[in-house]
Amino acid sequence: MVKKTMNAAILDKPFSIDVNEIKIPVPKKNEALVRVRCIGICGSDVHYYEYGKIGRYVVKQPLILGHELAGDVVEVGADVKDVVPGDRVAVEPGVICGTCDFCKSGRYNLCPDVEFMATPPIDGAWAEYVTVRSDFLHKLPDSLSYEEGALLEPLSVGFHALNRANVKPFDRILVTGLGPIGLLTIKAAQAYGVNEIYASDVVPYRLQKAKELGVTATINPLEDSVEEFLTKATDHKGVDVVVETSGNSKVISSTIELVKRGGRVVLVGLPTTEKTEMNISHFIDSEIDLYGVFRYANTYPSAIQALKGSSHNIEDVITHKYSLCEIKEAVELARTDKGSSIKIMIYPSGVEE
Ligand SMILES: [Zn+2]
Ligand SMILES: [Zn+2]
Repeated sequence: MVKKTMNAAILDKPFSIDVNEIKIPVPKKNEALVRVRCIGICGSDVHYYEYGKIGRYVVKQPLILGHELAGDVVEVGADVKDVVPGDRVAVEPGVICGTCDFCKSGRYNLCPDVEFMATPPIDGAWAEYVTVRSDFLHKLPDSLSYEEGALLEPLSVGFHALNRANVKPFDRILVTGLGPIGLLTIKAAQAYGVNEIYASDVVPYRLQKAKELGVTATINPLEDSVEEFLTKATDHKGVDVVVETSGNSKVISSTIELVKRGGRVVLVGLPTTEKTEMNISHFIDSEIDLYGVFRYANTYPSAIQALKGSSHNIEDVITHKYSLCEIKEAVELARTDKGSSIKIMIYPSGVEE
C-alpha cells in the first residue's frame, strides 16, 4: 500500500473525540487489512463516549471506538488463505483464543481471553482501515450491501437470543424495547419464519418503526397494560417467548409475568442496577425458562445465509448517515436524540448518496 496514514476517531476522555491522522496498521501473518466502508454507532460506543467506562472496562488510554463494520480486504498477511484482496467482508469484532473450554464447546462468546473491538484496551474501527484476524472475516455475497454487512453485528445478538430460546416459526413472540437490538431481533425472528410478533416500547417513533417492519401489533405500556393486551390478542394463549432488550429493571421484572406458563424469557438488555427483583414463586410455579445473552457465537455464517437473496431489508433500521469527520455530531445525535434516531452509520470515506 502506498498510503501510510489514515484518519481515525480517537476518544481520549468522556466527551472528547477527535479525528486524527495515525499510521495505517500493518497486518500480522494471520491478519488482513480491511478498508472500512461503513460502521455503525452502538449503544456501547455512546456509553464509553459519555462515561469513559462500562462496568469493569475503563478507557485509560486513547481509544478508537466502533465494532459494527464491513469493508474490503486490501492486504493480507503471509499465512492468510481464507480471503484475498478485493473480497467484500463483514467483520466479526471479537477475536477469541480458540483453545479454551468455551471456545471448544462452541460457546466462544464466553471466552475469557476474547479481544473485542472497542472494549478497552482493544481499539475498534471508527477509522479508514483496521487489521483483523482473517478467520473473523465473513465474505459478503454480492446481494448484501456493506450496510447489511455492518448490521450483521447487532443482528447477531438477535439471532443469538432466538437460538438461546430455540425459537420456532410457530412461536408467538414479544420483543420489549425497540432500539436497534429490539428491531433487529424482530428482523431475525421474521427471517426464522415467526409470524406472530408483538413489540413494546414507550417511544412512539420506535413503535412506528416496529409497525413499519410488519409486526403483528405494537404496545405502549404507558397507554395499555401489556399483559391484558397480549391475553386479548392471543386469545388467552399468551406468548411463548419474551425477548427483553430495553434493560429497564421494571420491564425485566415483568417479563416472567408476560410470558405464558411454560414459556421462555431471554434477557438481552443490561440493567444499570446489579440486582433486579423477580417473582420467583411465579417463575417456579409456571416452569419458565430464563436465558441470558452475552453477544453471540456462530451467527455470522447463518445470518448471511438467511439474508442473502431475501427481502428482509435490515437496512430499514438505519436512520442517519455521517462521514467519519462528522463523528462528534453523529455520536452526540446518538446520545441525545433517542426519539428519532435508531441506527447511525459512519462512512470513513464520506457518505455516498
Ligand atoms: Zn454493537
Ligand atoms: Zn477461548
